[in-house]
Amino acid sequence: MDQAIKNMMDLYGVTPETERFLLSEQRMFVNGEFIEAGDKDTIDVVEPSTASHLTSVPSGTTDDVDRAVESARIALREGDWVKMKPAARERLLFKLADAIEKNAQTLGEIETIDNGKAIGPCIEMDILGGAELLRYMAGFATKLDGATRQVSIPGDHMAWTFREPVGVVGAIVPWNWPFNMAMWKMAAALAVGCTMVIKPAQQTSLSMLFFAKLCKEVGLPPGVINVVTGRGSTIGDYLANHTGIDKVSFTGSTPVGRTVGEAAGRALSPVTLELGGKSPMIAFDDADPKAVAAATRWSVYFNAGQVCSAGSRLYAHSSVYDHVIEELAKVTGAMKIAPGLDPDCDMGPVISESAKRSILAYIDKGKAEGAELIFGGNALDRPGYFIEPTLFAASDNDMTIVQEEIFGPVLVVLKFDSDEEALRLANDNIYGLAGSIWTQDISRALRYSAQLEAGTVWINNHDIVDSNMPCGGFKQSGFGKDMGPEQLNYFTRTKAVWATL
Ligand code: NAP
Ligand code: MG
Repeated sequence: MDQAIKNMMDLYGVTPETERFLLSEQRMFVNGEFIEAGDKDTIDVVEPSTASHLTSVPSGTTDDVDRAVESARIALREGDWVKMKPAARERLLFKLADAIEKNAQTLGEIETIDNGKAIGPCIEMDILGGAELLRYMAGFATKLDGATRQVSIPGDHMAWTFREPVGVVGAIVPWNWPFNMAMWKMAAALAVGCTMVIKPAQQTSLSMLFFAKLCKEVGLPPGVINVVTGRGSTIGDYLANHTGIDKVSFTGSTPVGRTVGEAAGRALSPVTLELGGKSPMIAFDDADPKAVAAATRWSVYFNAGQVCSAGSRLYAHSSVYDHVIEELAKVTGAMKIAPGLDPDCDMGPVISESAKRSILAYIDKGKAEGAELIFGGNALDRPGYFIEPTLFAASDNDMTIVQEEIFGPVLVVLKFDSDEEALRLANDNIYGLAGSIWTQDISRALRYSAQLEAGTVWINNHDIVDSNMPCGGFKQSGFGKDMGPEQLNYFTRTKAVWATL
């Protein structure tokens, strides 16, 4: 660990446990044991607010993946996990949620140091939100049901269905919500009795490795959760192609999602793809500009814009357009940009040097294509990967910065005059993850919430989630749902049983 990170930890203070963990050697978690990569290779981990060396994690090999898949398979077929009654499984998951809650400060600090995100919301939403989701899903362990069916063929038969765990789940998760996105998959998968191999993003494996210790402490049987760290292009690809996997659950970018989907198709594994987005916000003529601006703070500028459902295209009616921009400038002007560990941090750095370069290239492209830069647009003159909250005004819906996912703190605002025009512009995009409608007119809100091509629509809000509401995109944002009772369908399969009497 470089001195710059030690200084930062001293300045803001972290738990002794965080310090101990970050200074210890990192190991993958396979079959209940902490192990090195088969070939002992490692990946350097960089802390994004100092751009300095944090630690290294094992760069897993395909053999390591095989071992993890094998152990997950064994745990699914024999041993304590498969024998556990649903109520006992529920109680074990409650215990795990309690352990997360008890260690929330440490988990939050580890996540913040690894990813750069602001510590307050990280503990609240990523970590405690993850524990809550685990509790929510745990309740379904005792409530999976099937149906008895009337059959009309000749003879004397009874017939029924039941739902069983789909099997070994291969989960591949991104770096923007490392712990939380893993929990979005794990909570439901464990509740229904699956076992898992999780591959975190190579930049952000640490919270999962700490979590693995908690799994062991609460007595989750070996093989139920395996965490294999390493490169997506090798072990991620291998996992998606693996015929020992019964279900692939992927969250990440659309291009990688497409290759994961192809691989799962070849292996004939069912697959859920939670992919990118370019979610519109539509502020109609009766929208509250203050509320719109407050929502962008939590959507586009929060987490440095590295939010899949960020409302990164804002369509504002010409009558509220100026007022909305004024409010946006106020809100972003008051934001504190700082290392995530700073308790007052509103926005931390982006994840990496290459992400920073990619975002700045989009900003250049916006200027080159004739969008008007209203504020921001620069990297901060300090170590780390900090970028100013940025606002562009664009006149053309076809501009690159209007159409493509930038995944940084960059918002584009466009003016419209009629409701129909707003809806047409909002739907004119390859993505369909989410969107929001801002109006006081109930008929308009309901009509356009139905017509917006997005997996989630918020009315007078943006980017709120709840364990009981499904998340998942349409169009190039993927398919399948995480969270809500809907998610259980993606981790179970239906068996039909006949008895001839
Ligand atoms: P990414 O580059 O697609 O990576 C996601 C995961 O896939 C990482 O673990 C990555 O591993 C792995 N991976 C890379 N190449 C692979 C391959 N060929 N085969 C299998 N796995 C591979 O995405 P990201 O940059 O981490 O995350 C940002 C993206 O995620 C954005 O597009 C965002 O919108 C999307 N996202 C969507 C949701 C949603 O719910 N829809 C939620 C959060 C994020 P390595 O990083 O180790 O290489
Ligand atoms: Mg990192």
